Amino acid sequence: MTETICQLCNQNHQVYSVESIYFAIIDQDEAVLNEVGITKSKKRLNEFSPPPPPKKTFWARFSPDSLMLLVVVVFLLIPLLLNQNLNLNQTIGLILVFLMYLLFRNKLLSWYQGQQKLNQEHQIFYQQDIKKWQRNLYCPVKDEVFTATKD
Ligand SMILES: [Zn+2]
Repeated sequence: MTETICQLCNQNHQVYSVESIYFAIIDQDEAVLNEVGITKSKKRLNEFSPPPPPKKTFWARFSPDSLMLLVVVVFLLIPLLLNQNLNLNQTIGLILVFLMYLLFRNKLLSWYQGQQKLNQEHQIFYQQDIKKWQRNLYCPVKDEVFTATKD
């Protein structure tokens, strides 16, 4: 590593990549931490941490069809477990639930696909955030993290 003109304070000094500091804190690499002049602490770790991965929305995990299948299986399983036959009311109930599902299936499917798409977009933003984080530098003079401009 060599001294460069720091893009943050315009002074000639060593700048460090935030990614390498982060892994030095994780790995408890005292040599690197001493050189940078950073004491490891929870606050410091948060400061240098990569962006957290996006949370998947709950309903995007299961397709409507597999949820419906689950409902049907449970419906059929309960009388079996109770050692009873499915009576007429239960049979009609099951058929009605199924018909209702068919009626709304297209709407549910398009909503589900929308959720999937949203997750994919979040994933793309996350990748961009990670790339930006990997470009982040640390200026020990100002004790600040900054994003390097592409050169
Ligand atoms: Zn600086």
